[in-house]
Amino acid sequence: MSDEPAFLTSLLDSLDDEVNTVLNNSDIPVVDKDGTFDAKDIPSSSSDTWIKLPEVVAVVCDLKGSTHLGTGKHDKSTARIYKSGVEGAVRIFHEFGANFIDIQGDGGFGLFWGERAHERAFCAAVTIRTFSERHFVSRLEARWPEAPATGYKVGMHVGRTLVKRIGTSRVVSEQEAVWAGKPVNYAAKCAQSAERHEVVVTQAVWDRLKDNDFIAFSCDCNDGPEAHLWSDKTVETLPDDEQAVVVLTAPWCLTCGPSFCEAIMDGHTQRESVTPSTRDAISMLKMARALEARKARVLERQRSRRGVW
Ligand SMILES: [Zn+2]
Repeated sequence: MSDEPAFLTSLLDSLDDEVNTVLNNSDIPVVDKDGTFDAKDIPSSSSDTWIKLPEVVAVVCDLKGSTHLGTGKHDKSTARIYKSGVEGAVRIFHEFGANFIDIQGDGGFGLFWGERAHERAFCAAVTIRTFSERHFVSRLEARWPEAPATGYKVGMHVGRTLVKRIGTSRVVSEQEAVWAGKPVNYAAKCAQSAERHEVVVTQAVWDRLKDNDFIAFSCDCNDGPEAHLWSDKTVETLPDDEQAVVVLTAPWCLTCGPSFCEAIMDGHTQRESVTPSTRDAISMLKMARALEARKARVLERQRSRRGVW
């Protein structure tokens, strides 16, 4: 920084020029990429180009009550909560092949695109939720019974995004990838609305998961596959017609979890133990009706665009 009084004036003048240039640039180059895109090829802030990815699944995880973790007499346990919790989530994103991982203080997000993006993202989400309750919080509470109540809240959304690095040109340490679009934003709203150890999933994600027997129905333990593994929920911070979401409160089953996770990752979708009546029961979810209504709206928009009446 400079002591010269002209410093601030010239800084603001030059920012004004830049904003004017960016806002009036009618053809900011946007390059379409597909599932094979590699995050290391995200354009730097020296480039004008944005990358458009048609389908990115975002998994956001948020530590409950982290604003209360604070410092003071709890600062050692706070440090341990952050380290073990955040590192656990990042490791899980990595192991399930997240294409991009971002840590944001007390949580973060993993982005998945390309082959089996929904499956990898879902398995990561449930594993974070399972790790949170069974390994992270249970150990934490055993060690520090007075530790503030915490645990991961998880949200998921899918959609297209634009990405580029933004920051100081030519200074990589001052650049950050910016994911413009709904996936991270909606997934974060879902995560914020969750209780700890819940996975909240938007309509767009559910539409892609609901036909997988390993995901939509409970395992074969106890009374066999049941349709009420997922339940309806409303996220009021989402737009009106997208507020109907579904929530999963169960972790991976201790017995079936490993084989279910493997089946999902291998692309299996059918289980013989799921009966037609169980399958019918899933359409009782409010979400099923919200999805139908959403599809009708999309169809109507397409028709009116084409002018077919
Ligand atoms: Zn089981």
